[in-house]
Amino acid sequence: MKIGFISLGCAKNLVDSEMILSVLENAGCEIIQDPSEADAIFVNTCGFIEPAKKEAVETIEEMHTYGKKLIVVGCYAERYKEQLLKDMPYIDRVITLGDYPKIHLILNEIFNQDGLKFLPLKYENRLLATSEFSPYVKIGEGCNNNCTYCAIPLIRGKFRSRPLDEVVNECKKLISKGAKELNLISQDTTRFGRDLNPEKKSLLPDLIKEIALIPGIKMIRFLYLYPDEITDELLMEVKNNPLVVPYFDVPIQHISSKVLKAMNRRGGETFLRGLFAKIKRLIPEAIIRTTYIVGFPGESEEDFNMLYQFTEEMEFDRLGVFTYSKEEDTAAYDFLDEIPENVKQERLDKIMKLQKKISRKNNKAFAGTIHKTLVENFDPETKFYYGRSYAFAPDDIDGMIVFQSNKLLEIGDFVNVKISSSYGYDLIGDYLSEVE
Ligand code: SF4
Repeated sequence: MKIGFISLGCAKNLVDSEMILSVLENAGCEIIQDPSEADAIFVNTCGFIEPAKKEAVETIEEMHTYGKKLIVVGCYAERYKEQLLKDMPYIDRVITLGDYPKIHLILNEIFNQDGLKFLPLKYENRLLATSEFSPYVKIGEGCNNNCTYCAIPLIRGKFRSRPLDEVVNECKKLISKGAKELNLISQDTTRFGRDLNPEKKSLLPDLIKEIALIPGIKMIRFLYLYPDEITDELLMEVKNNPLVVPYFDVPIQHISSKVLKAMNRRGGETFLRGLFAKIKRLIPEAIIRTTYIVGFPGESEEDFNMLYQFTEEMEFDRLGVFTYSKEEDTAAYDFLDEIPENVKQERLDKIMKLQKKISRKNNKAFAGTIHKTLVENFDPETKFYYGRSYAFAPDDIDGMIVFQSNKLLEIGDFVNVKISSSYGYDLIGDYLSEVE
């Protein structure tokens, strides 16, 4: 049985794809790249904002043209199952997130005549879609924060952590298979463990300490932090633990306290300024990445100018900006004072134009520094190597380190690179030595 598999959306959805892929492969299916060669095609969808939903529908329509058995899973399936079955009757099966605990039974049903036997989904033994040197580790599911614009709690439910020891065992397995960097993710990574202990204390620092004890690990990174859940204990762990990368991915969405309140985001302007000042005071080399939503209902010109001036002042290392996407069944859906699409886009373009200048300036400041770099790729034509250090997350948003080496290097090597210049979001450098 040849299977084609398309994985859309975020890194958390990618981990789900990796689990489903291993269930398919362990049952004897062959995972292939070319859908025209497949006997069945899976589309793991994203469904939280308009552009992602559009991509999900277009991908399903495109895969339908191959005339193969078509199975749709993921967030769009969870959110719009009935509509999918009505609008796209040619889909053979829609499997929702709620079905995942029994997906093996559903697959046994779908592929019954092919004599395949499927086993339940499991985190360990995932078929990695990323490089084995820097896999994602999903440590929790769902979210309790209920931002008024966000459909994720409707799709993924309340926050629930994975058992700490289960995560540590998975990390041990991944490192034994060659992982050098582990990227801890969930919708609200800072909330990890609070549902596992009576004090409701975040166990993220504890988890990091445990992972740091596993021989062979080089970089521990965590993404998707909620601002007011970043504890002093976590900051000190980052500051004092050399294996934890000083990389803070903290989506704030806005800086105007009025807009943040309407978004039901905890922590206003004063708090956020204090948080970033504390991070930089404690860990001056910290990389800070954040995201904004512009064009939220009621966002005045004055609110936007506050955000613009804040961006000028903060000079974030990494910044992503999204236009507000009106999502049904979310609290903000019925909010009045909507912002016209062209104004939303103008505001996004204005901030991204500013951020481009800031990123260039920040990158120039790296000249002369040495980065412990995970070698991820080599171009035999240009003889350039490509890699990432603590300053670059693995999700293709941040850019990378492009360098030359007179020594032959292997993908997965961890080496010191001396940065000489920068180009756009990338740093340019030369190989210096192996990392001891
Ligand atoms: S923190 Fe807010 S934006 Fe992020 S997943 Fe939770 S509800 Fe959505």
